[in-house]
Amino acid sequence: MENKECIFCKIARKEIKSEIVGESNSFIAFLDINPKAKGHTLIIPKNHYVTLLDIPDKLGNELLSFMKKISSELLEKKQGDGFNVIMNNLEPAGQLVKHAHIHIIPRKDRDNLRSIV
Ligand code: 5GP
Ligand code: ZN
Repeated sequence: MENKECIFCKIARKEIKSEIVGESNSFIAFLDINPKAKGHTLIIPKNHYVTLLDIPDKLGNELLSFMKKISSELLEKKQGDGFNVIMNNLEPAGQLVKHAHIHIIPRKDRDNLRSIV
């Protein structure tokens, strides 16, 4: 399941270069090209799913474990002392790339990043 024109499908297929920081069976993690903070990482399914609603339930455990692995490595590497997990779903919520992705954003005290919640 892929979308030929999709930039994140191309990243998942390694046709477009990205800084990959981790990989599981069904997911890949790479650095955001326009980071909100050092270490800002995107986690995407290797298959082309558009939003959270399209990701099969059976990938839930794998996704949770992978998110925890990537987040804890960011803390271990001292990229942050905390982190935000953010997912924009559909355009009104700010989803620009139409391939499901989860932002993991390292946070530090007084880093001046705003949060919508
Ligand atoms: P969205 O607003 O859709 O949740 O965020 C899309 C994110 O993907 C943005 O933070 C943007 O910087 C990142 N992004 C877009 N195109 C590329 C790319 O080609 N490579 C990488 N590494 N990140 C990208
Ligand atoms: Zn895609």
